[in-house]
Amino acid sequence: MERIGIGYDLHRLTEGRKLVLGGLEIPFKKGLVGHSDADVLTHAICDALLGAIGKGDIGEHFPDTDDEYKGISSMILLDKVKNLVDGQNLKIANLDTIIIADEPNLKPFKAKIKLSLAQALNLAEEQVSVKAKTTEGLGFGSGNQEAIAAHAVVLLINNGGI
Ligand code: MG
Repeated sequence: MERIGIGYDLHRLTEGRKLVLGGLEIPFKKGLVGHSDADVLTHAICDALLGAIGKGDIGEHFPDTDDEYKGISSMILLDKVKNLVDGQNLKIANLDTIIIADEPNLKPFKAKIKLSLAQALNLAEEQVSVKAKTTEGLGFGSGNQEAIAAHAVVLLINNGGI
């Protein structure tokens, strides 16, 4: 059996917040706004995984009205979602992602983000792809540097052994 999932997310940037992408803290003057640590990339990955197993979306599993998830590392949410995938006797064949940000320049961090995700998901680095794009300064609607978005696609295959 093969299952495919797609995920997307966007969070606003603001001063006074940490910027976390794929579990990696990125030095920048702004961070993303959200109930959790607002790790937009990890949220997109969670949604791709949940989509692949037909289990709804991240908001259903971890409501932003629940104090349990206030300020939580999204890597903990990813681990919970991975457990759901494991429970279906499926494993990740590969994960492909895109981060869309005008700032900061993510080129120096892509490899570390990829490694962070590979370790969190118990994958080889070759199974994970992290690409960074800009909006060519056009921004998300009213201007640039206001938000960071992320897309993720995941392919799940039989875990075998059963
Ligand atoms: Mg989100």
